[in-house]
Amino acid sequence: MNNNQCNLCPNLCKIDKELKKGACGTDSKIRIAKFYLHPFEEPIISGTKGSGTIFFCGCSLKCVFCQNFELSRNLRGKEISVNELADIFKKLEDEGAHNINLVNPTHYSNKIIEALKIYRPNIPIVYNTHGYENIEIIEQLNYYVDVYLPDVKYFSPAIAKRYTGKENYFEVASKAVSFMIDSKPLIFDNNGLIRQGVVVRHLVLPQCTSDSKKILDWYANIKDKAYINVMSQYTPFGELESFPELKRKITRREYDTVMDYAIALGIEKMFYQEFESADEKYIPKWDY
Ligand code: SF4
Repeated sequence: MNNNQCNLCPNLCKIDKELKKGACGTDSKIRIAKFYLHPFEEPIISGTKGSGTIFFCGCSLKCVFCQNFELSRNLRGKEISVNELADIFKKLEDEGAHNINLVNPTHYSNKIIEALKIYRPNIPIVYNTHGYENIEIIEQLNYYVDVYLPDVKYFSPAIAKRYTGKENYFEVASKAVSFMIDSKPLIFDNNGLIRQGVVVRHLVLPQCTSDSKKILDWYANIKDKAYINVMSQYTPFGELESFPELKRKITRREYDTVMDYAIALGIEKMFYQEFESADEKYIPKWDY
């Protein structure tokens, strides 16, 4: 990245983050909300000891219903240096983490590469993203990242626009995720934990089963090269006065409709959630 022209995500703010904040809400300083051994990722990621998860503040997508809005929008967290980030990688590795899991890292990807040049753990690096990614930046990250954990959230430009303001979400995310899948074939260790590969995540939203089915139609063409997690955990959060359809959890019928469709498409490398997963207990308590 040219420091004067931030292009770390498709928002392409082209600003100097040393001088001002971009659409992601962040400047050149790293802010994190928490790091710990996270037990609730997919079993091939959390394993028995947990995933060494670092939650970054700010967000370049900003969905209206974000369950992590305190950090994504309000930047609740603590400023750290690149050296301190490298120290956190080491600390989590020493605590027994199966991997280093970078949650919402897009707008810090240049700093993350700097930290990985200082200390590169001997465990996989997991890039846990909303999927709205600039492929040129993913190409730069590819040497350092072992596992991608991208969301594919919306198919319809109208829905993406309504919930994020980014009409081109699917066009951008589908290209980025296809690139990730092509560049990281699945590899597992002897304990069944992922060492390299992609786990796509799709959160089923209220009144959006048709949109979920279109995403699965797209995913069916690449279904054997990666895993997908079809998630039921949507929980209403944030200022939803203008989005009345989002003020409820999904119904069991909505989730079953999407899961049945995935099964009918022959998608086998798939995770699903217990329907009761729509519970605030799965949302971490923020430390800073
Ligand atoms: S990372 Fe932030 S400043 Fe850079 S292009 Fe994206 S939104 Fe803009």
